[in-house]
Amino acid sequence: MSAAGYMREDDGERAKQTVSPATWFEGVRYHVKSSTKPGETYLCELHLYRGNGVCQCPWFVKGLEKWLRRGYDGERALAEGKVKLIYEGQRPDQALMCKHLIDSHWRFERQVMDAIVEKLKNDTPEEPY
Ligand SMILES: [Zn+2]
Repeated sequence: MSAAGYMREDDGERAKQTVSPATWFEGVRYHVKSSTKPGETYLCELHLYRGNGVCQCPWFVKGLEKWLRRGYDGERALAEGKVKLIYEGQRPDQALMCKHLIDSHWRFERQVMDAIVEKLKNDTPEEPY
């Protein structure tokens, strides 16, 4: 995924001409290693279910996705007792995310921030980056 992919919408026509939709789309798809099954990876697609994301792991497929299919978001599912927070530091809005999705969202955020910082470094080099 190229840094330019994240600049596509803010950077106007120039970037739209140089970044393909496929490159942009790869920015919301991650392969995450299983911690319990060596060699296995799960595809996480962060744009699905209004940005909650979808994972292939059994925990998501069997336990969490049904609430998203019924229109719940994490906070509502938690408030109505459908799910519990099970990971250290997990926020209510992440209640319908498995650990792979939480990790992928963190990676996405990091990549977006890195791309923004790279661009700003050129535009305003006097700032403390
Ligand atoms: Zn998962």
